[in-house]
Amino acid sequence: MRRFDYYRAISVDEAIALLNEHGEGGMLLSGGTDLLVQIKEAGLAPAYVVGLSGIDELRELRSNGDGLHIGAGVLMHEVASDGTVQAQYSALCDGAGVVGSRQTRNMATVGGNVCNAAPSADTGPPLSVLDATVHVAGGGGTREVAIDDFWTGPGRTVLDSEVVTHITVPAPPANAGSFYERHTPRQIMDIAAVGTAVYVELDGDGNCSQARIALGAVAPTVVRAPAAEAALSGGPITAARAAEAGRAAAGEATPISDQRGSAEFRTHLVEVMTTRSILHAAERAQG
Ligand SMILES: Cc1cc2nc3c(=O)[nH]c(=O)nc-3n(C[C@H](O)[C@H](O)[C@H](O)COP(=O)(O)OP(=O)(O)OC[C@H]3O[C@@H](n4cnc5c(N)ncnc54)[C@H](O)[C@@H]3O)c2cc1C
Repeated sequence: MRRFDYYRAISVDEAIALLNEHGEGGMLLSGGTDLLVQIKEAGLAPAYVVGLSGIDELRELRSNGDGLHIGAGVLMHEVASDGTVQAQYSALCDGAGVVGSRQTRNMATVGGNVCNAAPSADTGPPLSVLDATVHVAGGGGTREVAIDDFWTGPGRTVLDSEVVTHITVPAPPANAGSFYERHTPRQIMDIAAVGTAVYVELDGDGNCSQARIALGAVAPTVVRAPAAEAALSGGPITAARAAEAGRAAAGEATPISDQRGSAEFRTHLVEVMTTRSILHAAERAQG
């Protein structure tokens, strides 16, 4: 383990001040399930580390009629076991609930998952289809970034010596449903070879009035699948229309081949899993 100076912040302002005071090369630490592994095993050598786990305001998980507020330091298990998230933001519950093991989910935060910017991150596609906004604070003040604009590449985000304070998700209407699933070569303790998330809204006739579809692990970042969304919107969610959207999604994926699967296999998975995720999201929308 490489040595580094460690500072423990007890407020967001203090974390920002520490980043400004000590300058370039610092890294923020939440649960450490990505960062400490990268330091131990991948040669990452931060000049210093600022710990965020002592900041109470980052631990808030709350909801009201407007939507959901997830502090950056909220744990995966807290999200997955929250009744409101389960009922109204189901895709996020699906994603948080499959991260690592029970032990991992008791350390890993949603903010860390988003900021680590892995294309395979299990909360990535759910937050994308749920239209999340990332709230950021830094020396220049605060700003909001749409989740789809937050990631700029594998392991890269728009952050510039800034802290993610929380993530907000607008409340979905009653006739909406969402679903996330992933394929992993191993049953447990593996990361997604493909992840698919779907959000649908139904109108009074049961037609799909809005569809959002996001894909994980098949591009440099989590990506939306606009052609698939267009194929699904404006008509009933039948098996045939879901399959058509699944084929469109496969055409929008740009996977690589690696130890978790060939590009061809991943493209096939995108088609099958998108089709299935659409049907599950529609079932949830129907209550
Ligand atoms: C055994 C194991 C299994 C795993 N399985 C999965 C899995 O199935 N699915 C999955 O998606 N991930 C998995 N992971 C990865 C990891 O658990 C998640 O990405 C986790 O959510 C990261 O959160 P953390 O709090 O541990 O982040 P940390 O490791 O503390 O930080 C991760 C990155 O985010 C930055 N960061 C953290 N908080 C903030 C903030 N508030 N503002 C700005 N930057 C910040 C850090 O500087 C760092 O770059 C696994 C990891 C392990 C060790």
